[in-house]
Amino acid sequence: MAHPTLDWIDRELARLSDAGLRRALEPIGPRQGAEVEVRGRRLVNLCSNDYLGLAGDERVMKAAAEAALAEGAGSGASRLVAGDLPIHGRLEIALAGLHRAEAALLFNSGYHANAGVPAVLVGREDAVFSDELNHASIIDGGLLSRADLQRYRHGDAEELSGLLARSTARRKLVITDAVFSMDGDAAPLADLADACQRHGAMLYVDEAHAVGVLGPTGAGLAEQLGLKHRVDVEMGTLGKALGAFGAYVAGQARLRELLLTRARTFVFTTALPPAACGAALRALEIVRTEPARRERLHALIAHMRAGLQARGFDVSRVVSPIFPVVLGSEARALATAAGLRERGFYVRAIRPPTVPRGTSRLRVALTAGHQPAQLDAFLGALDEVLAGLPLSAAG
Ligand SMILES: *Cc1c(COP(=O)(O)O)cnc(C)c1O
Repeated sequence: MAHPTLDWIDRELARLSDAGLRRALEPIGPRQGAEVEVRGRRLVNLCSNDYLGLAGDERVMKAAAEAALAEGAGSGASRLVAGDLPIHGRLEIALAGLHRAEAALLFNSGYHANAGVPAVLVGREDAVFSDELNHASIIDGGLLSRADLQRYRHGDAEELSGLLARSTARRKLVITDAVFSMDGDAAPLADLADACQRHGAMLYVDEAHAVGVLGPTGAGLAEQLGLKHRVDVEMGTLGKALGAFGAYVAGQARLRELLLTRARTFVFTTALPPAACGAALRALEIVRTEPARRERLHALIAHMRAGLQARGFDVSRVVSPIFPVVLGSEARALATAAGLRERGFYVRAIRPPTVPRGTSRLRVALTAGHQPAQLDAFLGALDEVLAGLPLSAAG
């Protein structure tokens, strides 16, 4: 066989399969929304981050096409070279407006933003303090910064305060998800901001799952809690509730100036394509002018929370469209997801390393396009599947 130097990959893939950790792609039909086509069957889609149903909104799709026709299929270069198109500036102004910040800077994805921004703010003489359940991109960004990386227990502002007090680092950076991607709960932002203030630390908040969902204007958790002025770096993505693609950091103008000069994941990559920016601009307008979408989503969240609580699942802290249905073992989570699929519901089992061992779960995500009756049908199917699980999958 050719490429014998890659033969080790067969052994590694077999090892991952044996451990139940092998991943596989699953193609879906176009334009997923409240429903999705998988292997020729229409299923209720409970695993999308398209929380407001904007990815398949005709107006947003048209805006993407119009932006491509007006400014090009690609940006042609990085922003700093010759890729700084008119639509980039327009979108940054709109994003700064949403966050009532001085400025915003686009990144090509939330992953790019979190991977590259910490290294601009801290280095070898400094320390990063990260919630233990923060998104993988934040962990990677902390590692790339070469700062001392310290984790605090999930949502534990008191432990954070102790770590900050003992730290002798030159600069201190606290990073937290606003809404945690696998648990759907919110960071205790006021307490974190107090700890940062007491110890002179910068506060960086990842609003990936909160933008478009939380706050009176959909600007996120900091807006909802009235804490915008206490967050130094507010990061958000355009790929979730906004239904497009890309990400940004909002904050002071001097922060933007430094990031555009120093963030390697901004400097060394081609600028976002106009289509993504056009879609995001239109989605922002819809978020601003159609608060009813957000209200509908929150009614569905309350409905699902009550239904899962009635079945004994601990979802009392969920503030977002993300519900953790924790089942324990990988086998139990996989069997439950498979049973739900047979009954017409598309939910993915989330396993280590995405979540801690022993907390394999279904991550049930809602979108404003769901009907309450679909959620009731899902809850009924969940009852059936859990009642019928064989003991071998009961771990
Ligand atoms: C999805 C996500 C990201 C990554 O954003 P992308 O734009 O999808 O790359 C970053 N942080 C959190 C908390 C996320 O959930």
